[in-house]
Amino acid sequence: MTNPAAPTMIHAIAVPPLPTLPIEGEHARFPVGRIFCVGRNYADHAREMGADPVRELPFFFTKAPTALLTDGADLVYPPMTANLHHEVEMVVAIATGGSHIAPVDVAGHIFGHAVGIDFTRRDRQDEAKAARRPWDMSKSFDGAAPVGALVRGALPLSEERGIALSVDGGVRQSARLGDMIWNEAELIAELSRWQPLAAGDLIFTGTPAGVAAVAAGARLLAEVDGLPPLAFAICG
Ligand code: MN
Repeated sequence: MTNPAAPTMIHAIAVPPLPTLPIEGEHARFPVGRIFCVGRNYADHAREMGADPVRELPFFFTKAPTALLTDGADLVYPPMTANLHHEVEMVVAIATGGSHIAPVDVAGHIFGHAVGIDFTRRDRQDEAKAARRPWDMSKSFDGAAPVGALVRGALPLSEERGIALSVDGGVRQSARLGDMIWNEAELIAELSRWQPLAAGDLIFTGTPAGVAAVAAGARLLAEVDGLPPLAFAICG
């Protein structure tokens, strides 16, 4: 017998399934609802972008969850850019939502961590900045968010862990998580003031210096110590 107060929802059209991430050592996958990113969170990267790395409050932008690229899939070089930049970032996955979370309480909300890349159409972003237009189309497009397998763990990662990205075997970016201007707990706390966080949220925590262009044919390796590496190729 069906409950008339809770009819089964029927979609009028078929849509793609919710994007998901693999979890290290598990069959179950992590469903991704939203992707938040923080800008200029490493001082040396802020400087290379022409900004002053003062400790102003972090600022955020978003990518559509459909930008995810998972399971080591190749990235098809995206249209509408001739200057696609890599930004290696540590990614936090949220298991338990909440708003106005205090930094000391963040541990209870984290599902785990992965390594990801915030791909950026830098030419388009520069145009948007110059014209005082939104960044969205430079940051959110199919394949703009490759992410590796998640490792479970509720505690923020140690600041001693290294983060690095190499292209065709040459190191382009290398830093420590401790080089972040705002640490993982502070970022989650601040973001939760803007809207309640929800289970399924991903947060990209910013990139160190060394962002640069990549072309079709390149092989990328993104790493955070202790997390499964993310390796894939760019095809054109
Ligand atoms: Mn970024």
